[in-house]
Amino acid sequence: MLLTGKGTAPGIAVGRIFLYKKKYFIPEESFVDEGEEQSHLDRYLAVKKQAMEELEEIRLAMLKHGPEKAEIFAAHQEILDDIVINEEIPARILNEHWAGDWAIYQVYETVLVVLKKAGDPLIAERAADFDDIRARLLRLWYGEKKEKLHALSEPVIIAAHDFLPSDTASIDRDKVLGLLTEHGGETSHTAIIAKSYGIPAISGLQGLLDTVKNGQFAAVDAHEGTVILDPEDAVLEEYKIKIEAYRRDRQDAETFRKKECLTADGIKIEIGLNITGVEEEELRACEYTDCAGLFRTEFLFMDRDTLPDEEEQFAAYRKVLEHFNQKPVLLRTLDIGGDKKLDNMELPREENPFLGNRALRFCFSNPDIFKTQLKAALRASVYGNLWLMFPMVSSIEDIRRAKEFTTSAAEELKKEGKKFGEVKTGIMIEIPSIALVADLAAAEVDFASIGSNDLCQYLCAADRMNSEVESYYQSYHPAMWRLIKETASAFTNAGKPISLCGELASDPLAVPVLAGLGLRKLSMGEASIAAVKRAIASVSVKKCEEIAAKVLKFSAAAQVQEYLNK
Ligand code: PEP
Ligand code: MG
Repeated sequence: MLLTGKGTAPGIAVGRIFLYKKKYFIPEESFVDEGEEQSHLDRYLAVKKQAMEELEEIRLAMLKHGPEKAEIFAAHQEILDDIVINEEIPARILNEHWAGDWAIYQVYETVLVVLKKAGDPLIAERAADFDDIRARLLRLWYGEKKEKLHALSEPVIIAAHDFLPSDTASIDRDKVLGLLTEHGGETSHTAIIAKSYGIPAISGLQGLLDTVKNGQFAAVDAHEGTVILDPEDAVLEEYKIKIEAYRRDRQDAETFRKKECLTADGIKIEIGLNITGVEEEELRACEYTDCAGLFRTEFLFMDRDTLPDEEEQFAAYRKVLEHFNQKPVLLRTLDIGGDKKLDNMELPREENPFLGNRALRFCFSNPDIFKTQLKAALRASVYGNLWLMFPMVSSIEDIRRAKEFTTSAAEELKKEGKKFGEVKTGIMIEIPSIALVADLAAAEVDFASIGSNDLCQYLCAADRMNSEVESYYQSYHPAMWRLIKETASAFTNAGKPISLCGELASDPLAVPVLAGLGLRKLSMGEASIAAVKRAIASVSVKKCEEIAAKVLKFSAAAQVQEYLNK
């Protein structure tokens, strides 16, 4: 059987599927103290409301794939609101002092026993629905978002509806052969992490979870975006050859990894490293890169119960700065929101999270969190060459306000008698409103880096996470090339450094165009460095300029793709 989606991180893999679904909770029999009943009842009602919202979200998503699937979740919502259950749970808590989790478990258990005894397969199926709702309520009761992925025992291909960035950030890269998802797009943070780990990934595989089974054998080709289930021997043979060819190509590219990045006519293109953490494994590429072109600090805040304090952040930032010696480290301040959530902080639900209180906006509305990060970064700057970079900037006021925060963090450090160094301040250009006034922005900052992932999302009005609108999310859209060109020129004319650190920088087809548009600094995950350096070595700047001039003349992304493929 063949499934098709969109390859979001390159590679080929053959192996067994691990279905990533929710965890099952069985609470212990327990009772509440006198006077605590109401709080347990309130908590049940809150958890029930959350479950209802989750189901509604899934129901609406399913509606796009057909009414039958959406009906399953509508039925789950009815169970959640079942009159008998919703009389029984409060009664047990209030009158018999059952703890809320125990009441949920037991009341559902009573219904389940009756349904299972009926001996009718149709009714038994209904029991599975009740069981499912109970598991959802208990998961939410214990504050678990989803099952975690750290503890895999053997290498597997993981199949899921979607991953949280914190899931993918915490996976053991040696145990994951591939990532398959129903949801997500090319520049979702899952895809970015997969690419940086060198793990093939395919997204937009509709109906994946209904089709694959745990332990099923699969052959994955992320270049084609295909998954073959239970492949026959002939297919396995073919995949062996494909894997070998891909390995050889990578080996060839590998010879460029540690070389200086020069075009065919000897012009240097600086290569930056994108990092999400401070593990040695991730930092080792500092030896053959010119800077840390994007340090996504928010990953230090995710997948943990508490926020990192100033000391912990200081130690982490210092470690990165020391590894990079005196090479610049572009430390991006917290970019929470959108698809990146915090486990340790309940963020209000937003209708359009990517257009909401994300990144710098989140920092402005949580000044203590922002100030703590700035203080830690300023203190760490003593140990290297720190370039402080603000994400999601949409106006000149944003820049000024972020700089005021930085000044006030420095003043606090002074009062506390703590040492701190000099830093450069810059911005990510990832919202069209700031890209279009890049000349004005250049006058306010020391540098900028173009975030092509978000720039594309906001420019094309296509959610980078939503596979339904993947075809509208066009990194090769003529508007993207024009805007990148104008932004790069504005900064170059102002004599300020400009780089690009979105996924376009790791695309060997796109890098000659970027160089031709005037960019001399590109930043990417470790896994893409060798192939990008090879691509640059194969062209002269003159050739890049010719390619860019040609690209700027096309009226559609598909034409650009076709031309660059050739
Ligand atoms: C970008 O938007 O291009 C970028 C580099 O930031 P992120 O992908 O983390 O949003
Ligand atoms: Mg971004």
